[in-house]
Amino acid sequence: MKAHDGMYIDGAWRPAAGPGVIEVVNPADEQVIATVPAGTVEDVDAAVRAARAALPGWAATPPAERAARLAALRDVLVARQDEIAETVTAELGSPPKLSQTVHAGVPIAVTGSYAELAATYAFEERTGNSTVLHEPVGVVGAITPWNYPLHQIVAKTAPALAAGCTVVVKPAEDTPLVARLFAEAVHEAGIPAGVFNLVTGLGPVAGQALAEHPGVDLVSFTGSTAVGRRIGAIASGMVKKVALELGGKSANVILPGADLARAVNVGVANVMSNSGQTCSAWTRMLVHHDQYDEAVELAAAAAAKYGDRIGPLVSATQRDRVRGYIAKGVAEGARLAAGGPDSPHERGYYVSPTVFADVTPEMTIAQEEIFGPVLSVLRYTDEEDALRIANGTVYGLAGAVWAADETEAVAFARRMETGQVDINGGRFNPLAPFGGYKQSGVGRELGAHGLAEYLQTKSFQF
Ligand code: NAD
Repeated sequence: MKAHDGMYIDGAWRPAAGPGVIEVVNPADEQVIATVPAGTVEDVDAAVRAARAALPGWAATPPAERAARLAALRDVLVARQDEIAETVTAELGSPPKLSQTVHAGVPIAVTGSYAELAATYAFEERTGNSTVLHEPVGVVGAITPWNYPLHQIVAKTAPALAAGCTVVVKPAEDTPLVARLFAEAVHEAGIPAGVFNLVTGLGPVAGQALAEHPGVDLVSFTGSTAVGRRIGAIASGMVKKVALELGGKSANVILPGADLARAVNVGVANVMSNSGQTCSAWTRMLVHHDQYDEAVELAAAAAAKYGDRIGPLVSATQRDRVRGYIAKGVAEGARLAAGGPDSPHERGYYVSPTVFADVTPEMTIAQEEIFGPVLSVLRYTDEEDALRIANGTVYGLAGAVWAADETEAVAFARRMETGQVDINGGRFNPLAPFGGYKQSGVGRELGAHGLAEYLQTKSFQF
């Protein structure tokens, strides 16, 4: 057990203002592996002051130099990839391969993409008799969740730094260790003092203090819709800019004529990956009634194959929440085709890969985000019915469409109220904008659209 003290503020590890600590638990064996300081209002204030003091210098740093620092940061993340992966496995419970490829790998790709964008982006443009400047928004308060702990930090920090903003990050309390590693990487990469700051702490204390701090110009939040709503209210009350990446309940629409086995298998893999703790997971599979029974059988078999291969959920609270949803699904009349509420292990916060059949659109498990390895298979009668079901939640983050040909899939996808759609198994693209329609959020992350979130315009007329 390692007791970490200090938070990364103004380029150094500084002791916390208060004595409080947060225990970090390995969800695979329920052992406490570390403690980190529980930051207070005072720590947040020190971090925001440091970020404000560093802002003029970093904002005036030429984009090519900011790009060079981001490239150096990417190189440190590459050099420390194994350590990052091991840390995410220890605090989140994700299987080592997933930790390597996704939890450590995607942040490298995203940091690299912003090193390139910082060097090539048009921070000045001409329109008519005007010059338009794209200037940094200022100090960013970034509040992140535990599900992709490093990715969520990097998806905010890298574009913010590319834009010339300075940052204070408050990571999720369940996964602060990889956040600390990231702060070390920032330091090693030679990013100037105060440009990036890290305050660990509880959401309602340190997170709220960051959102409310008058020295923060933009609050960028990823997490639950309930907390996002609060943060949106705080930010609008203070006329701050705000970006919210919230929950999802995405639809995987399998049109007749699609390769059913492939669509089902990829769909199940999408939901089970990261133990279902993915906001963009396609947790509702929509199948034509003629193919429904076959799809359920395929999905149950695919889920059973995952068996022991998926990791635990992040915490006991999350496991209990997911089990509660499984019980609710059964109580509302859905049929368990695979898995169920029983844990497959004696220790650790595990939930079996679960598939529900006979799910109807109004059931709780078809409407609310479960954030666990639970797939609902719904039947539709025709395309209009499929569209109504696909669009029939308050969310709109992601989705998938499978059809015999791409044109047919695209025609359907155009009518979906959602921010991202994978067509016939399209791959993740770190340059494509990511973010939600409806209550899935406000704003976009990744690529040039993600960079634009951290810029504001000024125009000169000549
Ligand atoms: P959460 O909302 O409980 O916590 C997210 C962050 O907010 C944490 O750092 C937490 O400490 C902080 N927080 C909590 N209460 C706060 C408050 N009152 N004021 C300020 N900060 C506060 O969410 P979670 O349980 O950590 O994450 C799971 C949720 O995140 C899911 O609903 C998921 O869909 C969502 N999510 C969305 C995306 C996306 O990009 N749209 C990505 C990942 C996760």
